[in-house]
Amino acid sequence: MKISTILNTGIPTLSLEVFPPKTSEVYDSVVKSTNEVAALKPDFMSVTYGAAGSTRKYTTDIAANIEKSGVTALAHLTCVNASEETIRDQVESLKAVGVENILALRGDLPEGVESTDEWIYKHASELIPVIKKYGDFCIGGACYPEKHPEAEDLKTDILNMKKKVDAGCEFLTTQMFFDNNIFYNYLYRLRDAGVMVPVIAGIMPVTNAKQMARIIKLSQAFIPRRYVALLDRFGHEPAALKQAAIAYATDQILDLLANGVDHIHIYTMNKPDVAAKIQENLSEIVPSCKKS
Ligand code: FAD
Repeated sequence: MKISTILNTGIPTLSLEVFPPKTSEVYDSVVKSTNEVAALKPDFMSVTYGAAGSTRKYTTDIAANIEKSGVTALAHLTCVNASEETIRDQVESLKAVGVENILALRGDLPEGVESTDEWIYKHASELIPVIKKYGDFCIGGACYPEKHPEAEDLKTDILNMKKKVDAGCEFLTTQMFFDNNIFYNYLYRLRDAGVMVPVIAGIMPVTNAKQMARIIKLSQAFIPRRYVALLDRFGHEPAALKQAAIAYATDQILDLLANGVDHIHIYTMNKPDVAAKIQENLSEIVPSCKKS
């Protein structure tokens, strides 16, 4: 099913994200955990694309498994250093396994590369027409409530997000954020700039302290004092931190839903137990979270 259809029913949704294996040695264990996430029957599931296409084939395999399990798949695709042929091949392989949704991304600059000048496709907005050329997909994109790290300022970044939507992007998923007020301000500014597509709020239950350090480095996300206190107090007790992270994420999601944000995406990082707990916490609130 097209994700645009799922997002337009007026019913709150909760989607989950998994990543493909990086090597063949861990293929079976990753497939097992992604199958366990799919068994939770979220509204849809996204599967990431390894840096610069390094897991291209595995992304298609995992997306195919998700579709086979009866859950709608959203396959990520980046255009970092890609040619039209590599994009076409990936799009064709996704089409062949029944995938109807693609998250069009530029991808991160590889280490040591400062600019995209040498690349054919420099931005996600340039990838979208290529995907459209090779198939009838519902296309989404990424957006950044705290601005993309390379953007000069938030205003410029929002204008660039609009270019993506004008190119045919039908929904946006946010980078993770830990303070809902940042998201509410951002949503207001997107709407003010004329970006009217559904915006899915990306929530990350950070279940280990090392992971948090990495996130801050990569996304430059603001960590509220309340979350810092949780990390300080429970950072060395894995089971306690996991419980606290699930509670914090649930609290964030409840606040979003109560304020009219209907679509939530959880960066579940192949952890079916974390996803299941959050679903349980929302079982009377989000229809897909209720288990019979
Ligand atoms: P773009 O939309 O191209 O934006 C990148 C920068 O260029 C921004 O600063 C923007 O303001 C600017 N810009 C955009 N369009 C224009 C334009 N037309 N003219 C001038 N400037 C412009 N990475 C992966 O490798 N694999 C994944 O699976 C993956 N999944 C992700 C999922 C989500 C929800 C998010 C938020 C990020 C994901 N990423 C993934 C990371 C992403 O690839 C990086 O954040 C990357 O640096 C930017 O990708 P983008 O598609 O947002 O780029």
